[in-house]
Amino acid sequence: MAEYDYDVLVIGAGPGGYVAAIRAAQLGLKTACAEGRETLGGTCLNVGCIPSKALLHGSELYDHAANGTMAGYGIKTGPVELDLEAMLAQKTDSVKSLTGGIEFLFKKNKVTWLKGYAAFEDAHTVTVAGQKVTAKNIVIATGSSVTPLPGVTVDNDAGVIVDSTGALSLKKVPDHLVVIGGGVIGLELGSVWRRLGAKVTVVEFLDQLLPGMDGDVRKEAAKIFKKQGLDLKLGTKVTGVAVDGGKATLTVEPSKGGEAATIEADCVLVAIGRRPHTDGLGLDKIGLAVNARGQIETDHDFATKVDGVWAIGDVVPGPMLAHKAEDEGIAVAENIAGLTGIVNHAVIPGVVYTAPEFAGVGLTEEAARELGEIKVSKFPMLANSRAKTNHEPDGFVKVIADAKTDRVLGVWAIASVAGTMIAEAALAMEFGATSEDIAYTCHAHPTHSEALKEAAMGVRGKAIHI
Ligand code: FAD
Ligand code: NAD
Repeated sequence: MAEYDYDVLVIGAGPGGYVAAIRAAQLGLKTACAEGRETLGGTCLNVGCIPSKALLHGSELYDHAANGTMAGYGIKTGPVELDLEAMLAQKTDSVKSLTGGIEFLFKKNKVTWLKGYAAFEDAHTVTVAGQKVTAKNIVIATGSSVTPLPGVTVDNDAGVIVDSTGALSLKKVPDHLVVIGGGVIGLELGSVWRRLGAKVTVVEFLDQLLPGMDGDVRKEAAKIFKKQGLDLKLGTKVTGVAVDGGKATLTVEPSKGGEAATIEADCVLVAIGRRPHTDGLGLDKIGLAVNARGQIETDHDFATKVDGVWAIGDVVPGPMLAHKAEDEGIAVAENIAGLTGIVNHAVIPGVVYTAPEFAGVGLTEEAARELGEIKVSKFPMLANSRAKTNHEPDGFVKVIADAKTDRVLGVWAIASVAGTMIAEAALAMEFGATSEDIAYTCHAHPTHSEALKEAAMGVRGKAIHI
């Protein structure tokens, strides 16, 4: 039998890879993880989920203080000043402590960090920093990178045309930020800089924001973001961006064709999606091809077509979300160890962390309707006592259930804490709950979560507070 350096070698230490490595080590497998970045945690901890949430939180506090919303609670403030450098520093501190935390967990679980980018030599051998390393099982968890817009050159250092990484570290608040792409990144980071004082224009190719979300949620999102002051140019495409003297001029035209117009900006954020990252991995050496979307395909166990090679996270099909990558990381490690690791891809919640938050799990109303007869119920946050008391009138909870079996097929929520509320819906769906199960579950009062209970009650026409 062949002798290997490791039982498991994970390539990439994002939420997919580092979780897979820790779980493999916990299961008694000799494990290494190759990561070329200076710190562990991947896109999520370094330039994704965590720094964006640090800025969303800080900018929301600033917005409350600077734009007078605190007065409604009887809190008078003097002149409020933004110290952008300090706000960016607290973001860097959060990132540092969390990436350092993963390094600590690697040591605690005896996972060896191989510092460098790995490239395949064969299905059981990679080269990392000039060294050949062998493993019985290799897990590809190389994540994703920003999708470029043809003809538009991102230069995060210059700060005029930036991607999400650049938009997390702008040295000054732009006068006018144009965001290309009305998806999750565009709306989260657009919100950050609007709150900090920028005029923000969002140019979105499609007729609605947030592709993939429920139709009602997308329509309501447009209303809410407009009310907050975002200038939305929907159904519009960018055909070029010219930079001159630190300013950008965008040429735009209707997506369906029509007259072109120009928009002047001092900063442009390109946020039109992310694509799987397999550059330099040497997949050709192991005969592993990617699909038309650049993804590595696997079976339900996360095994690729090449024996001993597995893949998880953003590099495989499915939503590009940290918690999906983490769950796949646990499952792949368990499968390698001979256990049964399963991820239910029908129940992966998604959250946009703006104010209010937009969240959903399961099917959209449109998708559910295509599969059969359904019942839909919506409960407005305006009728939820806690949201009303907190001066949070926007949003609703929507429950979509199978008309015959009453089984919950999807839940969508717009609320200040929708991201937290959606966990209950995911748990209910994981257990195959009916709307009646949620409706007859006692929910603490006064909580935003009561809106989910009332929406579920409404599926059978029995909500109390509307
Ligand atoms: P990644 O996190 O991309 O990690 C892959 C790692 O592999 C990287 O560190 C890379 O350096 C390394 N690597 C690549 N190639 C090699 C190689 N050959 N050798 C060694 N190492 C290699 N998701 C959420 O769920 N919630 C959020 O709030 C959220 N916010 C986001 C905000 C932003 C601005 C962005 C950009 C993304 C956000 N995401 C969010 C998405 C989330 O970051 C990704 O879904 C998640 O990081 C994917 O995890 P992963 O482990 O598959 O890959
Ligand atoms: P996205 O897919 O969410 O949105 C991209 C948007 O750009 C789409 O609405 C698309 O129609 C639009 N678009 C594409 N080409 C365009 C063009 N030429 N002109 C104008 N609009 C165009 O992608 P994203 O916002 O870049 O985010 C990338 C990934 O990161 C997503 O898959 C997301 O899941 C993940 N992410 C998640 C979170 C979160 O969970 N809170 C936060 C940030 C990022």
